[in-house]
Amino acid sequence: MELYKENQLKIYNSLTKTKELFKPVTEGRVGMYVCGPTVYSNAHLGNVRTFMFFDVVYRYMLHLGYKVRYVRNITDAGHLENDADAGEDRISKRARLEEIEPMEVVQRYTVDFHDVLKNYNFLPPSIEPTATGHIVEQIEMIKEIMDKGLAYEVNGSVYFDVLKYNETGNYGILSGRKIEDAIHNTRVLDGQSDKKNPQDFALWKKADERHIMRWPSPWSDGFPGWHLECSVMSTKYLGEQFDIHGGGMDLKFPHHECEIAQSQTCSGVTPVNYWMHTNMLLLNSQKMAKSTGNYILPNEILSGENEVLPKAFSASVVRFFNMQANYRSILDFSGEALEASEKGHAKLIEAVNFLDKIEAGKTSTFSVEKWKKDCYAAMNDDFNTPVLISHLFEAVKTINQIKEEKASLSADDLADFKTTLNAFVFDVLGLMNESSEGNNSDKLSGVVEMLIQMRKQAREDKNWALSDEIRDKLLALGIQLKDGREGTSFSIN
Ligand code: AMP
Ligand code: ZN
Repeated sequence: MELYKENQLKIYNSLTKTKELFKPVTEGRVGMYVCGPTVYSNAHLGNVRTFMFFDVVYRYMLHLGYKVRYVRNITDAGHLENDADAGEDRISKRARLEEIEPMEVVQRYTVDFHDVLKNYNFLPPSIEPTATGHIVEQIEMIKEIMDKGLAYEVNGSVYFDVLKYNETGNYGILSGRKIEDAIHNTRVLDGQSDKKNPQDFALWKKADERHIMRWPSPWSDGFPGWHLECSVMSTKYLGEQFDIHGGGMDLKFPHHECEIAQSQTCSGVTPVNYWMHTNMLLLNSQKMAKSTGNYILPNEILSGENEVLPKAFSASVVRFFNMQANYRSILDFSGEALEASEKGHAKLIEAVNFLDKIEAGKTSTFSVEKWKKDCYAAMNDDFNTPVLISHLFEAVKTINQIKEEKASLSADDLADFKTTLNAFVFDVLGLMNESSEGNNSDKLSGVVEMLIQMRKQAREDKNWALSDEIRDKLLALGIQLKDGREGTSFSIN
């Protein structure tokens, strides 16, 4: 039997502001859409926090046995500078500054994004559609909205008529904004005066002569408004009504509010059943953001080449750090916090690696059944990863007690314990077994094992000075030797 049948998953729905029992549109299947990156610069760690959380949602859904279609788009067109309907397109601006083609900008940062995801052990989504690959569909959707009388054209640009939509619809349903506050841009900039009301947002913008990314349309040579692509691509690949739509909290308004208005206008139904929003990653107590320069890049953390951290950290440690916080809480990034996560992560992975060496006892002194239930209960409670991690540490404690012969597990319990622990640590949280990760760490382990043998020989020869020197020098490098009954083991901090 699929695990989802025996698990009551609850999701906090940002639309209703309550935790609701998850009931997919089609039994056994999940359709999930997550707004992807705008590829005009490198994704920073804040972006990665959001994508990583949805990676874990995807992983858990797969673990529960759902057939999941996970769509995460690439925003490679449009997106004006002030997130409103005016100013310069970010991709075009970068292209102009670097004197390259906009599509070169897009390619460069898409490749970088994929590189980061690979390093951080993300599962690829089922479909990764691009905005520029769906211009035709976007034009079709604009026509449909115009046919319904909810969009109008002025000087080659097309705007969504928010006040008219609000006569029967509910603009503000997601963000809670009152219609009089839902103004897209308070400054009077280019094109702003074309709108009937300041609440209206662009579906299509006529390109001025500076604008390089442009397509022909019935209204002008121009480009789509930035909310449109997600309505189009989610409907195309997941249908008019689908299960989960995710993104960071900062996308609730205007982006997701506008998506609802557009999709609902065309289909007449509520497009998304569960809206999920992640909270922000902070650096220096402020939102990590490219625009303010307050950010760190994920690959700089791995290389150690940054001005924020005292040393390099592994991708699995950063993943663990992210998962130690609930996705709906803000999370403060710092070197100290990462160092604490590194210690916890090492303890967890060390214990998991020791599992294979454990032999079954006659009886169990630890209730694997209860522990397993607790792990699932944590994830079923709106993907509560910090609570899951606290249960994983109960498992660590048990493993350490077994090591010291203070606890035991029967053969059946041990098998169940191993499978469940491995599943949560590697399949669901996506952590990596760093001792077996990549060639270099294999080589490092080999070198440390060699030094352990040399130290053993030194001790047999009563060469205490050499034996202590090996231990102390390794310790200074962050490699701790532990002498036990079964020989010497080591951990890398
Ligand atoms: P963007 O490329 O700006 O559209 O952002 C991609 C995703 O990252 C969106 O879901 C944003 O909400 C999210 N995001 C941006 N900044 C942060 C942050 N500091 N912490 C968490 N998520 C963020
Ligand atoms: Zn989107």
